[in-house]
Amino acid sequence: MQITWNLEHSYQKLPKALFSSVNPVPVKSPQLALFNEGLSKELGLNFEELDADSLSAIFSGNQLPKDAQPLAQAYAGHQFGQFTMLGDGRAVLLGEQITPSGKRYDIQFKGSGRTPYSRGGDGRAHLGAMLREYLISEAMYYLNIPTTRALAVVLTGEPVYREKVKQGAILTRVGQSHLRVGTFEYARNFHDGQHLKDLLQYSIARHFPEVHESKNPALPFFEAVMSKQIELITQWMRVGFIHGVMNTDNMSIPGETIDYGPCAFMNTYDPKTVFSSIDTQGRYAYGNQPFIAHWNLGCLASTLLPEISSDTEEAIKLAKESINKFPKAYEAKWLQMMGRKLGMDEVKTTDKALIDDLLHWMKVHKADFTNTFLYLRRGVFPKDNLYDNEDFKAWLVLWKERISGNMQRAQELMDANNPAFIPRNHLVEEALEAASADGNMQPFQELLAVLSQPYKDVTGMEKYQEVPLGVDIEYQTFCGT
Ligand code: AMP
Ligand code: MG
Repeated sequence: MQITWNLEHSYQKLPKALFSSVNPVPVKSPQLALFNEGLSKELGLNFEELDADSLSAIFSGNQLPKDAQPLAQAYAGHQFGQFTMLGDGRAVLLGEQITPSGKRYDIQFKGSGRTPYSRGGDGRAHLGAMLREYLISEAMYYLNIPTTRALAVVLTGEPVYREKVKQGAILTRVGQSHLRVGTFEYARNFHDGQHLKDLLQYSIARHFPEVHESKNPALPFFEAVMSKQIELITQWMRVGFIHGVMNTDNMSIPGETIDYGPCAFMNTYDPKTVFSSIDTQGRYAYGNQPFIAHWNLGCLASTLLPEISSDTEEAIKLAKESINKFPKAYEAKWLQMMGRKLGMDEVKTTDKALIDDLLHWMKVHKADFTNTFLYLRRGVFPKDNLYDNEDFKAWLVLWKERISGNMQRAQELMDANNPAFIPRNHLVEEALEAASADGNMQPFQELLAVLSQPYKDVTGMEKYQEVPLGVDIEYQTFCGT
């Protein structure tokens, strides 16, 4: 039986230098580990009549859809501040699936073999990293945060050699596109002006059609990308998400969370929190994320200069004016978000002190970020030394007074903005370990089920909410390459 995809290939109309046509490299014995039925339906794909073998063949790349035209995308990027050539070294885009409602989504295999951009890499990915991306990206989706999603994970039946021998796997990633800040950096720095022009026009048509009408769309395009990034980072901050590797090649033009490598969620509140083993300087720490987003957007603005104005000085002046709007715009979004976590529809000037005081208290007393807001949402606190604290109680009095005007609305806001469940690092590790070491997917499936309803505050689920003392102290995440 053949599945009818509805693939288009608009990316291939871009200049050839922006991609390389390349097929996934077939794998030895593909075996389906995960399949996202709900997402497949949203995409307008009906796999119901296919057995696991057929799904394994499809999502390993061994049996390509008839209308697939696989390609690897070229891009560059600033990695930890250093500019370098990159590109899809282990991923291929099959095409763009047009959904029944007319939306366009990239369908990409990650871990599908070498491409012209692989440099020294083997083009492969290992099971743990692909399961991790599946789990965390789905968790982000259910937390209502823009993100790429995961359609399937297939074991390749082949080993991949890292610091240990691991099982190879391929993830099928679905996203609004895979355009990145790094795609613009590549076009600008490695090719002539026409490449940049074409890429800009393409990105506007695909993601920001409202900007198309402007006489000079480069600047409004930039500001639209900036505004999506501000929204995205604010949402990360809301749930304590730490991306871990915010290089410019991992910053998406349509504003989705992309590239789940060493990402993790903060437990105890501390802006300096960082888990990534390679981020020794804390460049991508929780509290640094807005500054890095600002920096990355500066990289994007500088690639756009020739499109902003043919007069370089004028272009720089205009670009600076735009990028300088970031701090104020972010601060406003962040305050609004924090206000909602505390049940306030609108944040007044005096509320900033209330917000800052709570965060300061949480930091000093090493309070759990998610649980503290959950307890505020419940209005009930555990009977332990932490919350039985004079400073905290004094803060509570002020806060309650502040929101007493409309308690119903306050409750609605808190319920919608303070999750009861996030992917706790130790549970993620346990689930991945059971899957990788014993082929036992049950802990993974159970955790995924909990994370699929993160705002529903059901009782008796403390196992998914409590963090055993000290588990975080030596916790490290890895890049997943
Ligand atoms: P990432 O850290 O996943 O954003 O990847 C950074 C760059 O390294 C991208 O160009 C990837 O395609 C490339 N890369 C990562 N792992 C591999 C691998 N195993 N083989 C080839 N290229 C890779
Ligand atoms: Mg990347």
